[in-house]
Amino acid sequence: MTTTAKNFSDLLLTWFKDNGRKNLPWQKNISPYKVWVSEIMLQQTQVKTVIPYFERFMKRFSTIENLSNASLDEVLHFWTGLGYYARARNLHKAAKIITEEYQGVFPISYNEIVNLPGIGRSTAGAILSLSYEKCFPILDGNVKRVLTRYHGVEGWPGKKKVENQLWEIAERHTPTRSIRQYTQAIMDLGATVCTSRNPNCNSCPLMFRCYAKGENTQHNFPQKKPKAVTPERDTIFAILENTHGEILLEQRPLSGIWGGLWCFPELSNNSKIKTTIKERYGFNIKKQMEYKPIKHTFTHFQLMIKPVHIKLQKDKGYDSKMLKWVNPKRNQTLGLPAPVLSMLVDLGNRKRVILNES
Ligand code: SF4
Repeated sequence: MTTTAKNFSDLLLTWFKDNGRKNLPWQKNISPYKVWVSEIMLQQTQVKTVIPYFERFMKRFSTIENLSNASLDEVLHFWTGLGYYARARNLHKAAKIITEEYQGVFPISYNEIVNLPGIGRSTAGAILSLSYEKCFPILDGNVKRVLTRYHGVEGWPGKKKVENQLWEIAERHTPTRSIRQYTQAIMDLGATVCTSRNPNCNSCPLMFRCYAKGENTQHNFPQKKPKAVTPERDTIFAILENTHGEILLEQRPLSGIWGGLWCFPELSNNSKIKTTIKERYGFNIKKQMEYKPIKHTFTHFQLMIKPVHIKLQKDKGYDSKMLKWVNPKRNQTLGLPAPVLSMLVDLGNRKRVILNES
């Protein structure tokens, strides 16, 4: 055991004597079955919610055999309101395995326990340490929070590399004595002191060595799941206005984004506006203004729209099957994408912010 490990667990064990939770229903006449059921119920659910469910469940299914003989419907009925019903189904399935393969006695080896449905490494560690007093680490959400803050562990704990690093740290801190108290202590510290929103560092036994407390960066740990990077595409909306104040809209092809809707003519981001407008529509430009860009989010990408308002020398517009001149001050009757409609309304009210004018 390293000095750090000794210090860490000793600090927690001392704190636990006065501050730990010792009267939870699953701590009375402790058994692997009670610890197992409580650990499964406590996944995603707070202690105060779990207590009445646990008590009702244990009253009805007092042994593993009772649970395995019950119908799944009845087990689910006793789970109603707790949510995440796969937990109840796995509990029932595992109870049947224990009854059939282990004569109703909860297995004692790590490999046997971790192979039961619904039991991962941390739950197996909790059962082994809390009920059999075997020195196995745990790494539930509360423990991850304490360890990432205490050691300043960077990265999202859902990432394998970060999780492996945390398991190594958890193993290093796991003491060779008082394992039941230590396991309960680190869970309790995470649940009651090193809480997600407002950690009460001044009451924490780890405060003088805690990285996050020292740096005042508690809220940076554990790091959140990185958001998938949404690709961005740039485009120009050419808002062409004739001398009558009408704006040109163009119907988009049926396939692709906003298929079949009416939009301002779209130009590629690197196109020469004057030349493209002349080549595509035969219009000459009198004046051009660039508006504040608009971001529009699609499911798989973001469109960064640069609206360029172009006043044409053209005095009267013409309509065709794919091109229409509209008055922005009137109510629109065409199918329009949301950003086009809002830009038209702003144009009608002269509300757009001009960035550049030429
Ligand atoms: S000092 Fe604060 S941040 Fe560090 S472990 Fe304790 S409660 Fe958590």
